[in-house]
Amino acid sequence: MPHTSGRTAYDVVVIGGGAAGVAAAVSAARDGATVCLVEKYGFLGGAATNSSVLSYCGFFDQQGEQVVYGFGEEFLEELRGYDLYRRETYSNSGNTVILLDLEATKLILDKLTANAGVDVLFHSTLHAAKRGPGGIESVMLSHRGGDLEIVGKTFVDCSGDGALLAAADAAHHLSPPDQRQASTLVMRVGGVTEDAETSPEAMDRALAAYALRTGVELGRSNSTCVRLPLSRELMLLLADEHIDVLDVQALSEAERRARTRCHDYLNAFVSCLPGWEQAYLAATGPQLGIREARRLMGQETVRAEDVSGARRRPEDAVARCGWPMEDHAVAGSTSYHRIAGQSWYHIPYGALASSDVENLWAAGRLVSSDNRAFASLRVMGTAFATGQAAGLAAALYAKQDSVDIAVLQQALVGQGALV
Ligand SMILES: Cc1cc2nc3c(=O)[nH]c(=O)nc-3n(C[C@H](O)[C@H](O)[C@H](O)COP(=O)(O)OP(=O)(O)OC[C@H]3O[C@@H](n4cnc5c(N)ncnc54)[C@H](O)[C@@H]3O)c2cc1C
Repeated sequence: MPHTSGRTAYDVVVIGGGAAGVAAAVSAARDGATVCLVEKYGFLGGAATNSSVLSYCGFFDQQGEQVVYGFGEEFLEELRGYDLYRRETYSNSGNTVILLDLEATKLILDKLTANAGVDVLFHSTLHAAKRGPGGIESVMLSHRGGDLEIVGKTFVDCSGDGALLAAADAAHHLSPPDQRQASTLVMRVGGVTEDAETSPEAMDRALAAYALRTGVELGRSNSTCVRLPLSRELMLLLADEHIDVLDVQALSEAERRARTRCHDYLNAFVSCLPGWEQAYLAATGPQLGIREARRLMGQETVRAEDVSGARRRPEDAVARCGWPMEDHAVAGSTSYHRIAGQSWYHIPYGALASSDVENLWAAGRLVSSDNRAFASLRVMGTAFATGQAAGLAAALYAKQDSVDIAVLQQALVGQGALV
């Protein structure tokens, strides 16, 4: 007996309900495919909602030009509908972001997937895949009721971690642990007055004073600190962990260690920063934000020189990326490497298509890229764009057993996306 009252066979099966997965699922469904979106938590949004990464980067390049439309723009339109569209440009970096409210993000993504007719399976974790002569035939999910096999014509891995790439034994990149981007436990802090000290210099001083008093040295003194819409909480990215996230023991220890450090950061700021006297930790994560695990080995790989050179390739482009290489590989520091002209580059179709499994695509932070290009294209605005392209490619393949790039580009433009 299958443990579901619903269907178990689809044209397109998408693993992971983050920015990439939601865009892939909705875009495929709007193209006429039957779509199952598999998500291990009970809500959509990926890192935005499971790790409180509440700012979308990548919608705009560093000149302020919007480079992601299509499904991503529909999300922004929904934010405008709730009067929650908050666009900020930071003068120090030139970066433009969209700030998010966590619960509104979940609600909007529920609405967009439901309206498109996507079957969303929450609380379902992919743990195995069956391969046959034509590629992947089915995936095995575990959920509270037991195991469930979902059969598909095509599959899109948007799990961030490359869960399907691993389960299906598809070719993938995996950087050595010491070269991977740090993981960070995000803090949301309430009770901080609107005029409170939040400058990097003030935070440096507070942490130095705290270290002197308590002997507790905290690894990073300042990083992202932004005020969220509605809740007015501060989102702080401080507690970095450089561990192998695929080692469950190391990851478990890191969660505990980072949580303790978040309390230390809070104590330091409460005792040493004006305006923080009533501050409290509204939430951590809830889970450690994981920047990097596996990535697709695609038919093509986006390289650092494509990013820094703002490479344009209209013949096979399926998305644009305007976010610079934002590197967190070195403990306690963030470095940026710009795109030429502070502009954008194209992501080609081949970077989303598996090099060795014919009915498999990947998007979001799984796009085939070298370490440095990954530091650019992994952001969520760009994940909406690559997710839309991967979902539409899978839907086309489910109909025709092949993907004609010109037809895919037309379908993307038809859905309002930029190529
Ligand atoms: C600390 C931190 C700060 C960041 N800051 C920013 C920022 O400010 N702005 C920005 O745009 N980007 C930021 N990023 C990067 C960005 O969050 C990710 O690269 C982005 O979320 C990638 O989107 P995605 O859809 O590919 O993956 P994810 O958002 O990771 O979503 C993957 C989804 O797959 C699900 N999943 C995983 N495995 C399985 C499985 N086996 N079965 C079922 N479901 C599964 C997960 O639960 C999740 O919902 C940050 C990342 C981190 C960690």
